[in-house]
Amino acid sequence: MTSPLTTAELTDIYTDLHRHPELAFEEHRTAGVVAERLRGWGYAVHEGVGVTGVVGVLENGPGPRVLLRADMDGLPVTELTGLPYASTQTATTPEGDVSGTMHACGHDVHVTCLLGAAAALAAHRDTWSGALVVVFQPAEELGGGARAMVADGLYDRTGRPDVVLGQHVVPLPVGVVNLTAGPAMAASDAFRVTLHGKGGHGSSPEATVDPVVMAAATVMRLQGVVSREVAAADSAVVTVGSVRAGTRANIIPETAELLVNVRSFAEDVRGRVLTAIRRIVDAEAAASGAPSSPELEEISTFDLLVNDPVASERTRAVLSRTLEEQRTRIETAGGRPVVVSLPPLPGSEDVGELATAAGVPLVYWNLGGFPASLYADVDLSRATGMGSLPDGVAPNHSPYFAPVPEPTLDLGVELLVAAAREWLD
Ligand code: ZN
Ligand code: ZN
Repeated sequence: MTSPLTTAELTDIYTDLHRHPELAFEEHRTAGVVAERLRGWGYAVHEGVGVTGVVGVLENGPGPRVLLRADMDGLPVTELTGLPYASTQTATTPEGDVSGTMHACGHDVHVTCLLGAAAALAAHRDTWSGALVVVFQPAEELGGGARAMVADGLYDRTGRPDVVLGQHVVPLPVGVVNLTAGPAMAASDAFRVTLHGKGGHGSSPEATVDPVVMAAATVMRLQGVVSREVAAADSAVVTVGSVRAGTRANIIPETAELLVNVRSFAEDVRGRVLTAIRRIVDAEAAASGAPSSPELEEISTFDLLVNDPVASERTRAVLSRTLEEQRTRIETAGGRPVVVSLPPLPGSEDVGELATAAGVPLVYWNLGGFPASLYADVDLSRATGMGSLPDGVAPNHSPYFAPVPEPTLDLGVELLVAAAREWLD
């Protein structure tokens, strides 16, 4: 099915979005671009759903309701790709820091592909029956965007869908799609730990309780959680991504702050890891003689992403067929069409909350968007995740993250259209 948006038009939309990334819940310009396009193709458009979310609904006779989702937010990353369409924008983060902003996770690819699919399915509405719901979600990176849309009455406006479909560009070669049935992406818990000491002069530590030493001991002890408390057959990640304390060499500060992130793939493992962290944080504070207990404050949580096994198999077949139909385009780019099934990825995603809230199946796949030539020595059938990918390919969230617009955009459109049609009548 040909999209009314040509390759050149898709590329124009993409490079415009790429030049203008917006942080979570600030996606006003992006939302405006999306809403205007959707209206032009005859969609009923709802704006401001979950702060900045946009939803287009195309009612087209009796049949299933199919929800396609793209996320819209960029990241506080200063772009270093050197691309002609690189972002030079800056923004103030919620923490009050001024930062460069960048579509370093490819959400500009997702918005562009979903617009292309929305245009194609509207132009060819005589070939299907049902309802198409296209969701442009804010704030995926914070883990709060899907939740905000649901809480703001998403399904009161659109009706309950029968299936939720989405895709995410990743550092796989063009022509490769990764779809993992069952648990496919990790649950994530991020929180802030505040350790309380007793400040004083750096020359007289005996008169203080040093939170810097307390923080150091806590960080080291946390490294034992996964290695000593999680079984070999299970997996989890505990990362302390930030340590902040003090201002001067000769001042022992009052407090220290840790930012901790946990990834897990099963609820019992998650519970065990979180309990161990709480125990260690409290115990290290007590061992230091802290005047009060540490505080743990949640920053974000993402549920485990679980692809419905039956719906995934049904969708896998159509994605595979679509890549095969696109073989010439893929081979011209040096790639090879294939649908792989990598082990669950340690990244996290909130798209599953749209499916969970509606009580319907989720199918979420990864779209390869990088030059196939970089992967000459990689056996994808043996890949254990994005970490086993080649040097020179910058992963999501890197300031060098640079998927190739073509044929990635056209492939992304074709895959969304084909998957939607599989579920529509
Ligand atoms: Zn991301
Ligand atoms: Zn992302």
